[in-house]
Amino acid sequence: MMTSAEIRKQFLDFFASKKHQIVASAPIVVKNDPTLLFTNAGMNQFKDYFLGNKKPESTRVADTQKCLRVSGKHNDLEEVGVDTYHHTMFEMLGNWSFGDYFKKEAIAWSWELLTEVYKLDKDRLYVTIFEGDAKENLPKDEEAYNEWKKYIAEDRILSGNKKDNFWEMGDTGPCGPCTEIHVDCRTDEERRATDGKTLVNNDHPQVIEIWNNVFMQFNRLKDGSLQPLPAQHVDTGMGFERLVRVIQGKQSNYDTDVFTGTIKVTEEITGKKYGYSDSRQDIAFRVLADHIRAISFTIADGQLPSNTGAGYVIRRILRRAVRYYYSYLDYKQPLLFQLLPVIAEQFADVFPELQQQVAFVSKVIREEEEAFLRTLEKGLKRIDDLVTAAGKSEEKQIGGKAAFELFDTFGFPIDLTRLIASENALEVDEPGFEAEMQQQKNRSRAATAVDTEDWVVLKEHGMSEFVGYDTLEINSKVT
Ligand code: ATP
Ligand code: MG
Ligand code: MG
Ligand code: MG
Repeated sequence: MMTSAEIRKQFLDFFASKKHQIVASAPIVVKNDPTLLFTNAGMNQFKDYFLGNKKPESTRVADTQKCLRVSGKHNDLEEVGVDTYHHTMFEMLGNWSFGDYFKKEAIAWSWELLTEVYKLDKDRLYVTIFEGDAKENLPKDEEAYNEWKKYIAEDRILSGNKKDNFWEMGDTGPCGPCTEIHVDCRTDEERRATDGKTLVNNDHPQVIEIWNNVFMQFNRLKDGSLQPLPAQHVDTGMGFERLVRVIQGKQSNYDTDVFTGTIKVTEEITGKKYGYSDSRQDIAFRVLADHIRAISFTIADGQLPSNTGAGYVIRRILRRAVRYYYSYLDYKQPLLFQLLPVIAEQFADVFPELQQQVAFVSKVIREEEEAFLRTLEKGLKRIDDLVTAAGKSEEKQIGGKAAFELFDTFGFPIDLTRLIASENALEVDEPGFEAEMQQQKNRSRAATAVDTEDWVVLKEHGMSEFVGYDTLEINSKVT
């Protein structure tokens, strides 16, 4: 069986053979973009090339990019561990054309790589193209359709709407129509049961999207309008862990060699067994295997856990993980930091920054765990009482004041309170919580609002115009 390391290497070798320059992943933490806290796609580091503000060294590049999708427009946190293919941190394999090749080559190479190098079963692939959008005056992507027709039966080319087939980085920034490749990993038996009907992503947990080819043509401005870019580009992103799962023929990303090492060590530490089900214990195993990567790579890239901005996002992920092992693996001491050596070792060749700082990152994680474990027991008792009371009441809700108390006294991030509430079929009065937060902010005069301006296409100046970056820096400083 091909290992994940070999699969990654084949991707990069393939695009090198198509004259792409192989570049390094940008850090997971974004430092120069007011619209983004973390890298959420491979294209982020190339934004200025799309806008025409900077000239790339090579018009064709490829890489594997560390991404994190836990905030902003792309936020998958609640799916993680519950399903088997959304991660907080994941690697996005990508190839780019900056005003060089376009749809014809991009589609031809996607197909060649998947079917000739990776030898995926053609009969299990299907693709989607953008159907157009009248409101935005965007046409159907006939060109992509006609290219795909060369390789795949027409009944396996499906039309998708703006939500799925028009990719946008954030509320503002580069965007364009896209075509996506999906793999049907159901068993033959299951496929026969639907008469070979093409199922789309989300119809079935074993039918998954693996690769997105975006044709960058616009810049979305703050007023919502689309401004054409100075040139047309290709921007692709393939989920590495999903690709490995498909090639290794597994039913879950967590059954691939990307994750099995971490799961095995978690079993040894806790004395519990990972059982591949939807039980909370198994979800806990998946959550830990996932979250440790997000936490450790982000810290290695320079973002410490803190009470604000990007730092608080990391603290929230870490506390979520702690609560999972504490409650569902019955482990009451710091655990995450013990998983670190496995990950650092596994990624030493690809992302050496973790191995190089392993002692430091380990210390940071351990201290965070210890700090939260000091209040967790009491906090869980408190929320238990709240859950019991709410269960008996009319509203079936944890109030805003109570959620704030959990936050302020026991360090429960609101999403953790929401998670525990939802496990008990309850809701949280979040506007009430926000109001309490606001009052506290007013009291401490710490309220800072960050407004984001448009990124402007400034060809003649050779630079982008945004100047509000210091504000964000202050806001995300460790406190
Ligand atoms: P999905 O619909 O599954 O949430 P997406 O459409 O949001 O994925 P894109 O923005 O198109 O994803 O990103 C390109 C590729 O990155 C996807 O085709 C997928 O393979 C991968 N990917 C996206 N989100 C995640 C995630 N949270 N974890 C792992 N891989 C992901
Ligand atoms: Mg998504
Ligand atoms: Mg999608
Ligand atoms: Mg997609």
